Amino acid sequence: MDTTSSMIIEKTEKYGARNYNPLPIVISRAEGVWVEDPEGNRYMDMLSAYSALNQGHRHPHILRALLEQAEKVTLTSRAFHSETLGSFYEKLANYTGKPMILPMNTGAEAVETAVKAVRRWGYDVKGIPADQAEIIVCEGNFHGRTVTITSFSSSPEYRRGFGPFTPGFRIIPYGDTAALREAIGPNTAGFLFEPIQGEAGIVIPQAGYLRECYELCQANNVLFVADEIQTGFGRTGRRFACDWEGVTPNLYVMGKALGGGVFPISAVAGDREVLDVFEPGSHGSTFGGNPLGCAVAIAALEVIENEQLAERSDELGTYFLKRLQEIQSPQITEIRGRGLFIGIDLKVSARPFCEELKAKGLLCKETHEHIIRLAPPLTITKEELDWAWQQVNDVLSEA
Ligand code: PLP
Repeated sequence: MDTTSSMIIEKTEKYGARNYNPLPIVISRAEGVWVEDPEGNRYMDMLSAYSALNQGHRHPHILRALLEQAEKVTLTSRAFHSETLGSFYEKLANYTGKPMILPMNTGAEAVETAVKAVRRWGYDVKGIPADQAEIIVCEGNFHGRTVTITSFSSSPEYRRGFGPFTPGFRIIPYGDTAALREAIGPNTAGFLFEPIQGEAGIVIPQAGYLRECYELCQANNVLFVADEIQTGFGRTGRRFACDWEGVTPNLYVMGKALGGGVFPISAVAGDREVLDVFEPGSHGSTFGGNPLGCAVAIAALEVIENEQLAERSDELGTYFLKRLQEIQSPQITEIRGRGLFIGIDLKVSARPFCEELKAKGLLCKETHEHIIRLAPPLTITKEELDWAWQQVNDVLSEA
């Protein structure tokens, strides 16, 4: 085994495909909000694996669930029943308020599941003519990396060289209710959106947007499908970002923190009328709903509830955002956020700032070239946030 960061990075770069451009740091240990490299340097994790670590690294309650389940059975496939699947369904149904759950593994698979459900519902329930169903999506969206999802991305770098693409999607500007009204037609089966666009740079739509879209969808018999993969599970200061406007989607698409940063598990939760379109043989996944993932997800949800992570995110996020907004720097265009989901929009490239912050012991990552995303584990303390603020202030006010 390689022991130093430089040896590890060298080997990784030698054999790995180049589809990521990580900061030059190796994380070899982690606990809570803090991570450590092989040389023993400590860093605060302000990215949380793109919000998959809302509960913090290696939360003991979640680790215990993992280990206890691993002692019993880890994989059954869905050809047989397992002890944990029903309990996971019940837990997530209670958390979401939705009666039916379909488990997968990654976020992209959950989005694909939602796309299939919406299309089938369009044909079987709404009565759209065969192969004519349309799903409306938003400019700047990020829903994953499969070919179908890439087909409705508006980012050229996500699409180049990956065609031919899947038809049946219509892209409208984000935050524009008039565009949605105009785009809805008789063959529209669903509207798929992020309640806050994370990868686009923490883009928060204007107040009332989600509610108006919801009402338009209701009025036109169009499914309202929220991708809460990054915004769910307390990240924005609510259970789901849709809660900010009191709207309940027909389908919640979830992933990331559902696995507590310990095990990949994703799911779609929805109305019975929609998820009932799947019959045996129509959809599935070898690992989806496996006992280990279900045990971990139950524990991950327990941590979110027991430690009131949404409430923490709301309170601490409001405090942190206010302090960040006081930073004086000619390089800042805007600082915006909801809960502990914060974007610092710069006039210049964000990467050098992320590198400087790394040198000061704070890990974060640029998104879309000029935006720094700050999204720590929701278990972070006020004192830790004050420390983070000091580092960000030092780096930005010197710029
Ligand atoms: N949807 C949203 C909103 C996301 O932020 C992401 C990942 O960043 C995905 C979908 C894709 O999830 P995964 O990377 O687990 O496939």
